[in-house]
Amino acid sequence: MSKVLIIGAGGVSGVVVHKCAALPEVFTEIVLASRTEAKCKKIAAQLDRPIETARVDADNVPELVALISRVKPDLVINVALPYQDLTIMDACLETGVHYMDTANYEPLDSAKFEYSWQWAYQEKFEKAGLMALLGSGFDPGATNVFTAYIAKHYFDEIQYLDIIDVNGGDHGYPFATNFNPEINIREVTAECLHWQEGAFVTTPAMSLKQSFTCPDQVGTYNIYRMYHEELESLTKHFPTLKRAQFWMSFGDSYLKHLEVLGNVGMTGIEPVEYNGQQIVPIQFLAALLPDPGSLGPRTQGKTCIGCVVRGIKDGKEKTVYLYNSCDHQACYAEVQSQAISYTTGVPAMIGAKMMLEGTWMKPGVWNMEQLDPDPFMADMNRYGLPWQIVEEPGFDLV
Ligand code: NDP
Repeated sequence: MSKVLIIGAGGVSGVVVHKCAALPEVFTEIVLASRTEAKCKKIAAQLDRPIETARVDADNVPELVALISRVKPDLVINVALPYQDLTIMDACLETGVHYMDTANYEPLDSAKFEYSWQWAYQEKFEKAGLMALLGSGFDPGATNVFTAYIAKHYFDEIQYLDIIDVNGGDHGYPFATNFNPEINIREVTAECLHWQEGAFVTTPAMSLKQSFTCPDQVGTYNIYRMYHEELESLTKHFPTLKRAQFWMSFGDSYLKHLEVLGNVGMTGIEPVEYNGQQIVPIQFLAALLPDPGSLGPRTQGKTCIGCVVRGIKDGKEKTVYLYNSCDHQACYAEVQSQAISYTTGVPAMIGAKMMLEGTWMKPGVWNMEQLDPDPFMADMNRYGLPWQIVEEPGFDLV
């Protein structure tokens, strides 16, 4: 018997709510709250069981505390934006409730992806006997668990990690983002960091690319090296890694639009004055772009996200590739959402389930790779994200 409070009512939230609602034996009661309650009601109307909805401004700790105190959930699932991570963690501490999210905290005024702010809560959560699970989406999330699973079952020592995120989906728009446009563009335009021999090395955004052929007929795509937050926690928790890189596929049209938008200042995060009003260019751009939630019915193709790990087993070098591929239209048929939200929302539901069932419950602030990967991997197969493992895949990665 458990009650969850889900905060945020966007693309990812829609999937989390559908998936939690389909497991009433774990998620006995669900309350969905967001800044715009109408969006919560829209998601609620798609379900075949009743859930409660509410309005909350998650930037406001007293408002959150009032809501959590009234609802009395066992766990708060944060699928609002990374800007709200710390306020929701503060409210959870004040009300004595466990916490989970899918993306690390980011201050509104600087596009910085790092865990320092949330790791600083370790002692507070531990002392309060509460758990905070960080980054339970796909990447971060499943990719952290994949790495832990490979390290546990296939190697004595892991040394090289390449996380490869390919979205082979086509929505037919010249430019649109598959999740929150502001967060997506901040991430993609940030300088690239990769781990090399004990330190992060900085290179210009999108300056290294290679071609990658996915399994399962997903296709061949250009993948670009970029920074992604799980590199920070994985290199900390697997100190034997000599190199760790993250790669993501982008189409030529997406990159061309992004370059032009960047050149004219539309991706800026500093406010500019226009007609006596302060406007943040990237927020205005986000208002013009298609709502990621509307891409579901029109996106065709598959995603393929996985980890390539090279290391040592029984004194010999070997390589293992673990991945999931997911079909956009199949996701839409199941939960009325495209595969990017689906691949994030399913691991979020599984992370919450691991906590509520006690499988992963321990006080403190944890990244996914710090917990036993096996039960999570079993649930990935069970709840819509089956994975494959290939030994010696024969890739020739840069
Ligand atoms: P959306 O923009 O679709 O949804 C965000 C939701 O949060 C909206 O409903 C929004 O409300 C709500 N929200 C924003 N600010 C507040 C606030 N102050 N108070 C209450 N609610 C608020 O985003 P996505 O669903 O695409 O992404 C959700 C999260 O998932 C993000 O943190 C994103 O970074 C993360 N993510 C993680 C991935 C992973 O693999 N780990 C992959 C993709 C996303 P309103 O509708 O009123 O604007």
